[in-house]
Amino acid sequence: MLYTIPDYYRQFHCVAGACEDTCCAGWQIVADKSALRQYKKVTGEYRKEIRAGVDWKEGAFRQDEEKRCYFLNEDNLCNMYTALGEKALCKTCKRYPRHIEEFEGVREMTLSVSCPEVAKILLQRKEPVQLLIHEDEKEECWDDAFDPFLYSLLADARTMMIQILQNRELSLNLRTGLVLAIAHDLQIRIQKQEIFDGEMVLEKYRTEKAMDYIKGQIAKLYTEEEKHRFYEFMTETFRDQYRLERLRDNWEPHLLEAEQWLYGKGEAHYYELRNAFEGWMAEKMPEFEIQKEQLLVYFLSTYLCGAVYDGHAYSKAQMAVVSVLLMQEILMAQWIKNEKELYFEDLVDTVYRFSRELEHSDPNLNLMERLMSERPVPWFAKKAAEE
Ligand code: SF4
Repeated sequence: MLYTIPDYYRQFHCVAGACEDTCCAGWQIVADKSALRQYKKVTGEYRKEIRAGVDWKEGAFRQDEEKRCYFLNEDNLCNMYTALGEKALCKTCKRYPRHIEEFEGVREMTLSVSCPEVAKILLQRKEPVQLLIHEDEKEECWDDAFDPFLYSLLADARTMMIQILQNRELSLNLRTGLVLAIAHDLQIRIQKQEIFDGEMVLEKYRTEKAMDYIKGQIAKLYTEEEKHRFYEFMTETFRDQYRLERLRDNWEPHLLEAEQWLYGKGEAHYYELRNAFEGWMAEKMPEFEIQKEQLLVYFLSTYLCGAVYDGHAYSKAQMAVVSVLLMQEILMAQWIKNEKELYFEDLVDTVYRFSRELEHSDPNLNLMERLMSERPVPWFAKKAAEE
């Protein structure tokens, strides 16, 4: 069995009660069967608490009106942990913020940026992230539906995309354009079931000719017509966020306020703000380019290979790009609200809250992916129409 982890994986430590938020509120924590069996056997003083806090029918912990876990106390510490020790925690609580994706013979483990401490580790990091691999003797049995050839193609594509994203000699726009172009062309091969031609797509994007083509396409994005298309794409994509299931009640008011700051006075005003924001960021927070790169690598490395199960490689790549674009928009709104000032804390706050809403709900991830295929970024919509 192969295991992959990002090289910052072991840097993470939960700060528990000192955390600026908590991972024990906002979503229902489902306990695994083995933990539920243990809870039934608890005796002594804590037995009554366990009986009250576990919803046996749902196999989950009860929540209060603010969606806080029954066992979470006022100091944001877990009462069950205090009373019964770490062993008593269910798998979900023990694992978080570790995220696991399983493939045939491969287990990919990442840390979710929905935890503010993970977001800080990733956003403070300057060096490109490496995926570390190690192997053990364990064998896993898989059903025949798993396509090892498609997985291998996706894994190669992901490696190449990450190398491109980490090539800091190229502009981030060009790197992102290349990644989307690779995903777009791969998608065509997947749809036509021409998996063995997928490697040719990767070869194509190693050439100067492909690079020049993408550069040419990106240069065209600055025409008035393309800017208008991008504005429409961005406003619609932003409003799509209201269609997602809400995990925290305070997220929607945050989005509504941001929408007003960003798009409330129309397109010309939006571009005025955007130019000023980009100028400010380049001068005061130049590391933002690296932070966006790290986030793109994070989303791609977490989700792209999942296309082995549904064939949706392009929408997963676009979801990575759009997630970073949306975080940037929300951050820009925060900058306007802060009277043209921004702090590292704003960045952490935006990243972990956005990630929570999107990544901790399967319906949200599914809807977001569907929206990505229905509304490709404007340049790719045009490219697809021309093909
Ligand atoms: S969100 Fe992260 S740091 Fe905060 S309590 Fe949960 S695991 Fe610990």
